[in-house]
Amino acid sequence: MSEAGFEITERSRVMRQPIRGAYDEASVFAILDATLIAHVGYVIDGQPFVTPTAFWRDGRKLYWHGAVAARMLNSLADGAPACVTVSLLDGLVLAPSGFKHSINYRSVMAFGRARLISDPEAKRVALDRFIERLYPGRAATLRPATDLELAKTAVIEMRIEEAAAKVRNDGVMAIPEDIGWPAWAGVLPIETRIGRPTADVRLGAVAMGLATPAPYAEGDGLDARLAEAMALEIDRAIESV
Ligand SMILES: Cc1cc2nc3c(=O)[nH]c(=O)nc-3n(C[C@H](O)[C@H](O)[C@H](O)COP(=O)(O)OP(=O)(O)OC[C@H]3O[C@@H](n4cnc5c(N)ncnc54)[C@H](O)[C@@H]3O)c2cc1C
Repeated sequence: MSEAGFEITERSRVMRQPIRGAYDEASVFAILDATLIAHVGYVIDGQPFVTPTAFWRDGRKLYWHGAVAARMLNSLADGAPACVTVSLLDGLVLAPSGFKHSINYRSVMAFGRARLISDPEAKRVALDRFIERLYPGRAATLRPATDLELAKTAVIEMRIEEAAAKVRNDGVMAIPEDIGWPAWAGVLPIETRIGRPTADVRLGAVAMGLATPAPYAEGDGLDARLAEAMALEIDRAIESV
C-alpha cells in the first residue's frame, strides 16, 4: 500500500491523545476497508445531520448511495462539505474506577465535498464497484441493473481532502489510586463475526448448488474478511489495467 499521507490541517489534526492519530493512507485505508458502515455528517440550514449509510472506497474517493428522494443525497449533491466517520469497536476496557474505563477502537474521520454522480454509465460503474468491493468477481455474474433502477438510485462521491485515523489498542490506564482496588480490571475484546449463511430457497441458489460468496466463511471476523475482499478487488483492478 502507498506510503502517501493526507495533509494535516487544523481541521484534521488529532488534538486529544495525538499519539493515537495517523494520517498516512495505509492507516486510514486499513480502517475504512475493514468496515462497511459510515456516518455521514453534513449541515442543512444550520441543522447538523449524521446519517448512517453503507459506503465504499475507490482510491481516495468515498462513495455512498440511496434513493434519489433521500434528503441526505439531495443536500449533498452540490459540493456540500461533509465529514465521513467510521468506527470499529475492538474492546471494552474496565478499570477499578469509573473514570478510567475506556474503549479500544479504530476510527477514521474523512473530510471533503460531496457531489452527485449524474452520468448513468459512471453511476453503473460505481455501483458495480460497490458489489465488487464486497464480493470480488460477483458483479459480472449478476443480472445487470435496468435503466429505471439506475435512474431511481443516487450515487454520491466524495474525494477525501483530509483524513485522520485514531486508534486505541491498549490496556487499562493504571493510576496509583486504582491499584489494589477490589474491582475487576482488564480488557473484554469485542469482534463482529459472520454467522451461519441461510440461502433463500425461492431464488434457486440451493437447487443450483451455488456456494456462498468468498471470502466470507462462517465464524470469520467480519473486519478481516471485508479488508481481504477489498485487497482482492484492488488486485483484480490492477491486473485488468
Ligand atoms: C467507538 C469510539 C468511542 C469513543 N468514545 C469516546 C468517549 O466516550 N468519550 C470521548 O471523549 N471520546 C470518545 N472517543 C474518542 C472521540 O472520537 C474523540 O476522538 C474525542 O472525544 C476527542 O474529540 P475532539 O473533538 O476533542 O477531538 P480533536 O482531537 O479536537 O479532533 C480534531 C481532529 O482530530 C481528528 N479526530 C478526532 N477524533 C477522531 C477519531 N475518533 N477518529 C479519527 N479522527 C479523529 C479529526 O480530524 C478531528 O477533526 C471514542 C471514539 C470511538 C471511535
